Formats: sequence, structure tokens, C-alpha cells
Amino acid sequence: MMDLHSHIDLYENPLDVARKADQLNEFTLAVTTSPKAWLIASEKLQQFKNIKIALGIHPEIAHERCDELDLFISLLRKTNFVGEVGLDGSSHLKSFFDIQRSIFKRIIKECSLLGGRVVSVHSRQASSDVLNCLYQYPYTDKVVLHWFSGSIIDLKLAIKIGCKFSVNEAMLKSKKGREIISQLPMNLVLPETDGPFLQRRKTPIMPWNAIDVKEGLSKIWNVSEEEVEATFRKNLNEILKV
Ligand code: MN
Repeated sequence: MMDLHSHIDLYENPLDVARKADQLNEFTLAVTTSPKAWLIASEKLQQFKNIKIALGIHPEIAHERCDELDLFISLLRKTNFVGEVGLDGSSHLKSFFDIQRSIFKRIIKECSLLGGRVVSVHSRQASSDVLNCLYQYPYTDKVVLHWFSGSIIDLKLAIKIGCKFSVNEAMLKSKKGREIISQLPMNLVLPETDGPFLQRRKTPIMPWNAIDVKEGLSKIWNVSEEEVEATFRKNLNEILKV
């Protein structure tokens, strides 16, 4: 099926994972954590037609990689996919928050100048700051908020500006995650794994497992699993539209 947020390059055996994901998924977004990682992943994974490699600077390491921002900007012309980018307001990263914000703002600005990109965005404990940065972006319908865990007020604002949401099975296991999902219009939702960080019984979740969220979603939304799956396909086509 599809996975809108997978760290394929961080599995123990990226090529094996990529080969199988390419066979089993019609679309996998392989996010990266730095422009240098994107260069390596692009070279190794370009043979797989159903995998797109997203150019990223992960907010948790943004302060260590700010010297790669110029490289990021120069590579942005070569891809339609950006991620993982965003902001992380966790307390241990507080002192780097201004650096994170200036990097994220610049990335969003450059994406607008190039006519928009599909962007997978991290917003842990920073959803209102993320939305403040996105508010100026004319292509928010191409933004996919990954593992959203912000307030319902921020959620409503994100829906209003047309952001998409990629949801994973950890969200289905938490009360807050289920509440967020229950507020989401079906036409804005896509499946993700966030593997290998997300695990099942101490084993990393795989890109072809993303679709398993359809069971939980069908219960929350009170529609059939087939309808959830058909909606995912429609939503994917929507964000991939030029
Ligand atoms: Mn991630």
C-alpha cells in the first residue's frame, strides 16, 4: 500500500527493506535526517521506482547540521519531496529552538519560491510554532504533519489551512492519538510507520505495515476498511498532483 514517513536508511539492512517496500508498497516516502544522508540514500535507493527520498534536516539534530543548510537549499531543486523537517519543543532541545526555527522557516520559504514541495513535518511539543511558520506557506495542502500530537485548537487550524496528516499505530494506541484521529477529516489522512523508530514487540515496524492502521481508523470513523484504503489512495493522488 503506502507509507508516508519511513526512515529506510536507518534500518540495519536498508537495501533489503527498500527492495521489499518497493514491491509491496505503491508509494513509500523515505525521509532523511540531513542533506548528506539524502545524497547517500538517493544514490542507493534511486533504483526503486516506488520509493521517493525526501530531503531533510531533522529538528532534533538541526543545531549540529546548520552548516548543511546551504547544501540543503542547493539540493532542493532536485527533489519534490522534503522531510524530515520541523520543530521539536522537547525540554532537552530548548536552547536550540531558535536555531531550529530559523532553519525551518528558511526551508519553508525556499519551498514556496520553488513552487511548493511535499513536506513531511515533525511538530512534537511545537505544533503552534510549526503552524506559525507554515501559515505564510502558500502550499500547505502539500504539507503532511507527521505523528501530530498538538492541541485540538492547533489541529483545527492545521485542518483549516489544508494540511494533511500521516498517522501511525502508536497514535492508535494512545488516548490522545485516538482523539486527534477522531477529529480528522478522512480526506486529509495518510498512513505512516516512522520505522525503524516505531517498533512492534521490540522489532522495527516495516514500511509495508503502515496500512495496518486502516483497522483502527475504520473503527474510529465508523467506515469500512475498504473505504479507508480507497481514501488513502485518493489522498495520495491529491498530494502528488502538480
Ligand atoms: Mn521520523
